[in-house]
Amino acid sequence: MKNNKSTVSVRSGLNNDKQHGCVVSPITLSTTYNFFEFNKPRLYDYSRRKNPTRDIVQKTVADLEQGKNAIITSSGMSAIYLICIALLNSDDCLIAPYDCYGGTYRLLNALNSKKVCRVQFVNQNDTELMLKCLKQKDVKLVFIETPSNPMLRVVDIRYMCSLKERDDIVYVVDNTFMTPIFQNPLNLGADLVVHSCSKYLNGHSDVILGAVISKDIYLHEKLMWWSNALGITGGAFDSYQLLRGIRTLSIRVCQQQCNTKNIVDFLLKQPQIKSIYYPGLYSHVGYKIACQQQTGFGSIFSFELKGTEGVVSKFLKSLKLFTLAESFGGVESLIAHPETMTHAAMSKQSRDTAGINNMLLRVSVGLEDSVDLINDLDQALQSIS
Ligand SMILES: *Cc1c(COP(=O)(O)O)cnc(C)c1O
Repeated sequence: MKNNKSTVSVRSGLNNDKQHGCVVSPITLSTTYNFFEFNKPRLYDYSRRKNPTRDIVQKTVADLEQGKNAIITSSGMSAIYLICIALLNSDDCLIAPYDCYGGTYRLLNALNSKKVCRVQFVNQNDTELMLKCLKQKDVKLVFIETPSNPMLRVVDIRYMCSLKERDDIVYVVDNTFMTPIFQNPLNLGADLVVHSCSKYLNGHSDVILGAVISKDIYLHEKLMWWSNALGITGGAFDSYQLLRGIRTLSIRVCQQQCNTKNIVDFLLKQPQIKSIYYPGLYSHVGYKIACQQQTGFGSIFSFELKGTEGVVSKFLKSLKLFTLAESFGGVESLIAHPETMTHAAMSKQSRDTAGINNMLLRVSVGLEDSVDLINDLDQALQSIS
C-alpha cells in the first residue's frame, strides 16, 4: 500500500530506534564507525559518505518525490554543482532557462567561463528555439525551473521531456518553488529533481541544505560517488532539523497557498498595482500548463507597482508584517526587490530579457493570518497613493 504525501512526510523514519524505542529517531553525530572486526566494515564507515540521520531524511525526500533515492547536500547550489560535475565533461552542453534562480545563473555562467561545461541560456517557452538547441550533438543536460523566479513563468515539463533527442540527455527539474506536494517532475518525464531544502522543505528559515532525487539507481549511484568525493553531503544536525521541518510540509504549503489566494485577490483590486504575476490567475500566461502539471499554485507571487523607484522604497518602508529579505518558503512572510537583491548578480541586459525591472517586488507568503497581511499591504499602499 502506497501512502499519501502528508502521511509520508509525518511518518517516514519514525520508530526505527532498536535500543530505546525512540519514536523520533536520534541524531547520529559520530563521524566514524567501528568495524565488526578485521576487514569487516559495517553499513556505515564515515559520515561524509553515509550517515544514519541523513539517510532517514534522504529516504523521506525520495519518497515524497517518488524517486528511487535522494542525496542531501550542503545547499541547493551544491546539489546543482554536484549534478554538473558528475554528469558533464568540458565538451558537453547544458541548456538552462534564461530566467533561472540568480544563484544558479551565477554558478552556470562561471562553470561556462571556466570551461567545465558549455552552458546555453534559452527561453524554454520558445519551442522552435528549444528544438534547435536540442539538435546540437553536445547537449547532455537540460535544466528546467518551473515556475521561474521571480516572474513565475511556467514550463511544460512533460512536453520538454518529450523533445529528448537521445537517451543520454538528462533532464533535471528544480522543484524548489512547488515542493513535492504540488508537483512531481519525475512522474512527468524528468530524470532528476533538485531542491533547495533551505526553502519550503525545511520551512523555518534556519537550515541551508539541498537535495538531488534520482529516478533510477544508476544516476543515483554516480551522484553518490561524487557527493562523497567532493565532500558536499549535508551534516547530521541540519538533516535532523530538515526532517523536523518536513513533518509539517503539507499543511504549511496548503495554508500558505490559501493566504496567497486571499492576498492576490485583494491586490488585483488595488489601483496602485500595475501587474501581478501568479500562475493561479486565469490571466497568467502559464495558467493552463500549471493546471495540468501542478496540484497547487504555491505561495510566491510578484507584482509591479505603478510609479518610480521612490514609490517602491516608501512602500517597503511602510510594511510591518513583510520582512525585506531574500529567500522564501519559511513560515514568515518576506518581500524582496529582485533587481537589487536576488537577481543583482545578473547583467542588466539579462534582467531586461527576463522582465525584471525596478518596480518589481516578489512576495513569499507565510503563515500569519491573511487578514493581518492584507491590512498591512493596504496601509502600505495608502502610504504611496
Ligand atoms: C534558493 C534556491 C536555490 C539555491 O539553494 P540554496 O539552498 O540557497 O543553496 C536553487 N534554486 C532555487 C529555485 C532556489 O530558490
